Amino acid sequence: MKIIDILKGEKPSLSFEVFPPKTDALFESVQNAITEISELKPSFMSVTYGAGGGTSSHTVAIAEGIQKKSGVTALAHLSCISSTKDLIRQKLQELKEKGIENILALRGDIPEGMVVENPDYKYASDLTKEIRDFGGFCIGGACYPEGHPESENSREDILNLKKKVDAGCQFLTTQMFFDNNVLYNFMYKIREAGITVPIVAGIMPVTNGKQISRICRLSGTILPARFKAIVDKWGTDKEAMTQAGIAYATDQIIDLLANGINGIHVYSMNNPFVAREIQKNLKSLIK
Ligand code: FAD
Repeated sequence: MKIIDILKGEKPSLSFEVFPPKTDALFESVQNAITEISELKPSFMSVTYGAGGGTSSHTVAIAEGIQKKSGVTALAHLSCISSTKDLIRQKLQELKEKGIENILALRGDIPEGMVVENPDYKYASDLTKEIRDFGGFCIGGACYPEGHPESENSREDILNLKKKVDAGCQFLTTQMFFDNNVLYNFMYKIREAGITVPIVAGIMPVTNGKQISRICRLSGTILPARFKAIVDKWGTDKEAMTQAGIAYATDQIIDLLANGINGIHVYSMNNPFVAREIQKNLKSLIK
């Protein structure tokens, strides 16, 4: 099923993100965790491509497994900055043959200090065009309510985002954020800029205080005082942080749903417990 058809439905969507294993040796344990998450029957599941510690080589196999084993629609991430046109076309052919209909088109991160000279694809919008010309896929893209760390200012970033949408991007998933007002302001600005595609809010239930402080430093995501107090108090106590992180994420999602944001994407980090608890907490709200 095409994700755009899920997002255009009346029912709010609840989707989960997973990432492939770092090494082949971890494949089975990661696969088991992903199968457990897919058994929750979310609206769809996304599989990252060389991000979050996972490699890119297993993305297609995991996405195919999700669809075949559980019948849940899969969204395969694909990044382009260090790829060639030949490799991307091969990947698109492979995805098509495996029955994957949805791709999140990404530029990917440029490793610090590395200069990519004359890349075949400079921006995600270049990849989006390639996928659109290939045909048959529903294409999503990433967006950054607090601005992409490399962009000069939010105005420039939104103008660039519009180019990505004009290139064929049919929906946008946000970078994680911990203050819903940040998303509401962003929504106002992008709608004003003429971006009308559905926005899927990316929510991260934090289970590890140290890790989130590092991620926020790299991505420029701001931790609001209310959340920072939680991380300061329980950040090193895994059990307590997991409970507080799930409660905070649930609270954020309820506020988003109440304010008409109908697409919720949970960065479940291959953690079936977190996915299950969030889904349980929203049972009567997403039906
Ligand atoms: P782009 O949309 O190309 O934007 C990158 C920068 O270039 C921005 O600053 C933008 O303003 C600017 N820009 C864009 N177009 C133009 C233009 N025409 N002219 C001038 N400037 C321009 N990374 C992975 O490696 N694998 C993953 O699976 C993955 N999944 C992700 C999922 C989500 C929901 C998000 C939010 C991010 C994900 N990332 C992933 C991280 C992503 O690859 C990085 O954030 C990367 O730095 C930017 O990718 P992008 O697709 O947003 O790039």
